[in-house]
Parts: sequence; structure tokens; C-alpha cells
Amino acid sequence: MSAIEIRNVKKRYKELQALKGVNLSVEPGEFFGLLGPNGAGKTTLISILAGLARADEGHILVQGHDVVDDFQAARRSLGVVPQELVFDPFFTVRETLRIQSGYYGLRRNDDWIDEVMANLDLTEKADVNTRALSGGMKRRVLVAQALVHKPPVIVLDEPTAGVDVELRQGLWKFISRLNREGHTIVLTTHYLEEAEQLCTRIGMLRRGEIVALDRTADLLKRFSVMQLSLRLSSGVLPADLRALETESQPEQSAQRGAAREHVLRLNSYDEVEPLLAQCRAAGCTFDEIEIRKADLEDVFVQIMHEPGMVEGLA
Ligand code: ATP
Repeated sequence: MSAIEIRNVKKRYKELQALKGVNLSVEPGEFFGLLGPNGAGKTTLISILAGLARADEGHILVQGHDVVDDFQAARRSLGVVPQELVFDPFFTVRETLRIQSGYYGLRRNDDWIDEVMANLDLTEKADVNTRALSGGMKRRVLVAQALVHKPPVIVLDEPTAGVDVELRQGLWKFISRLNREGHTIVLTTHYLEEAEQLCTRIGMLRRGEIVALDRTADLLKRFSVMQLSLRLSSGVLPADLRALETESQPEQSAQRGAAREHVLRLNSYDEVEPLLAQCRAAGCTFDEIEIRKADLEDVFVQIMHEPGMVEGLA
């Protein structure tokens, strides 16, 4: 049984088809990254998963429970850290977490609440009213709220937006520990470095469609050619080398053609010397030359500019 099973989910907001038939399975114990540019449909999908919005078509099951027909069981299996900071401002942090426990029928939950607060560095704020917390602190409380019932499936929608380095590190340490203990994690983030480090598998959404789905290591391998960055002090990049430029959008390439900075895709170090020789023969001299392996951000940019689905392990 999958931890999350998403079957042909469609959602329309008036003229806008926000989700165009999404299919996706997340297996128990996975640390899965759901990535995509602004407006791709990530939050819409998570809202449907959390029972906060209804799909027009399709189904989502959490631990085998349909999020509509079997809402209570699905909700108990799930902890969602939403993007937006919404609180009842009249309660302290501890009260908020006790009330949240009560929603799940958990009465003696203080040991776990204390542990969650300690791990999220909230202990000092336990008796402070939530309205008096800073934005980053409020986000910690949202994470804590999602975890009070130790859900087997934890979904984090941009949990590190606007939080300081210390919380990020503390949060990932805690979430990684929960993952090692068997919890399934689904993360959306615009910090692709974070996704690359943490997620074992990644799905990329673009305009309501999954356009890439693969293990992180395989996505990186597939696209992870080298990148040669050149800053020319004189000369113009030979025309046939422009085809190697990373941007696939013609306007960008055209602008870059006249520019001094170029990033070229290579398959191996062996290609570096002939390429530089060709540039020199064309009269180019260099201010800067840098070679590096492509990272998830490069993969993301390439996929978002390429048409069609990148097949992987579904
Ligand atoms: P971000 O990275 O900015 O959070 P996202 O991938 O989470 O983006 P969604 O918030 O799911 O994207 O939005 C998908 C599309 O649906 C967007 O074009 C958005 O404007 C639209 N949308 C989302 N919610 C609503 C709503 N309640 N009413 C109308 N349109 C909506």
C-alpha cells in the first residue's frame, strides 16, 4: 500500500486548469520532493490531499484511506504544515498544541508535545501567546501542530520560507529523524539545495502536470553534465558553440550571443580543451573560466524549459 496515492486528480478555478490529471504514488518511508515554479499547482494538490479543497475529478488515498470518503482516517494518517500562518491568537504555544492533540482524541500527549517543542526550539516560548511570536517562531508552531499526533505521513508546504538558518537546520534534523523512524515525508520547497540534500525522489509539476518523476540521484545523473562558465574579455563565442548553451529559450540565447557570459553544457572534462581551443582560434580571450557539475537547480531549469514528460520511476 502506498503512503499517498494520487489518481488522475484534476482541479479547475474558473478558466484556469490548476491540475490537469495528476498521477503520483509516494511509498512508505520515502522522503519525496514536490517541486515546481510559482503557480504550478503544488499547494492546490496539497490542499486536496489535506481535505481543504475538493478535486473536480480523481482520487487521493492516504495510507489507503480516501481523503473524501474516509476523511477521518485519512486525516489521522496525515500531518500537514501549511504555507500560510493561521492561528487562533488567544492561546499559548502549549495550549495550541494541546488543543490540536484534542482534535485527534489524544489526552496525555504532553511528553510528545515537550519533545516536539524541544526539537523545534520552542520550549522557551511554550507559555507565550502565539500572537506575540515572530513569523519564524509561528512557522515552528505550525510544524509542531502538524506533528502532535505523530502522523505516518508528513507533508510540508514550504516550511522554511522566511525562517533562519538555525531553525532550518534544526527542522531538517528532526524531520530526517522522523523519516529514519519510518515516517513518510513530502516536501515542497523553492530551496532546491534543500530538496537535493533531503529528498530521495522528486516529482516536478509544471502548469498542473507532472513533467519529471525520478530518484534524485537519477535525475541528477540524467542531466548532470558539466557546466563550463566562460566570461569573455574579448571576442565573440563561435556560433556553433551557442547550441551548447544551457538556456533552451531562443531569446535568451540570442541575448547571450552578444553577451560576455556563457554557460555551456558538456558531457565530460575531455571536451573542455578542444572547446577552449576553438574559442581561442575564434579570437576569444577569457576573464574567467569555471567548470562545475550541474545541481538540482540546473536540472529544474532545464526541465521547466523542456516540453514533455521526463520518464522515470513512477
Ligand atoms: P507557489 O509556489 O507560488 O506556492 P503553487 O505551485 O503552490 O505555487 P498553487 O497555489 O497551487 O501553486 O496555484 C496553482 C494555480 O491555481 C495558480 O495559477 C493560482 O493562481 C491558482 N489558484 C490557486 N488557488 C486558487 C483559488 N482559490 N482561486 C483561484 N485560483 C487559484
